[in-house]
Amino acid sequence: YCGMVAIVGRPNVGKSTLLNKLLGQKVSITSKKPQTTRHRIMGIHTDGPSQIVFIDTPGLHIEEKRAINRLMNRAAASSLADVAMVIFVVDGMTWTADDEMVLKKLQHRNDDRKIILAINKVDNIKDKEALFPYLTELAKKFDFDEILPISASKGTNVQRILDMARESL
Ligand code: GDP
Ligand code: MG
Repeated sequence: YCGMVAIVGRPNVGKSTLLNKLLGQKVSITSKKPQTTRHRIMGIHTDGPSQIVFIDTPGLHIEEKRAINRLMNRAAASSLADVAMVIFVVDGMTWTADDEMVLKKLQHRNDDRKIILAINKVDNIKDKEALFPYLTELAKKFDFDEILPISASKGTNVQRILDMARESL
């Protein structure tokens, strides 16, 4: 089994941290400063007979006013074309206009592609109950195949994402 899985989301939600955790090594630069990753970064996870190519996809949130932005956006969108699954990463504490823009891009969905919502940085959230209104709102906006609270840095539910990625191939 072999296939690709894209990681999408606005800057700073933890895409690169998640990619590194999924691969068990540092291939993607993580930073407090948004937009560290301008190019796609891929990594291959090999496990028995299955090989999954994970793609860290920056730029899907960018407004298309400038030519360079359209270009970055097209590169990001084209990396979604052949994937088996999309991991939409958001920050459990904040939903922004950029998140909304990414969600809009995902709406042109191709039916056999799984889209999962990974609500990241839950290690930062003291009151887990606070997550529920957020989850309910997001579930209303979009028909996700799965909604998972995760911590990319601590590894919470990262194995579950790997399992789902493998099942999607
Ligand atoms: P990207 O722009 O989406 O690739 O985000 P990065 O992976 O570069 O992460 C942005 C910032 O969020 C960095 O300071 C990370 O250390 C932090 N971060 C990422 N994942 C988590 C997490 O699960 N928990 C916490 N507390 N911080 C995280
Ligand atoms: Mg990044």
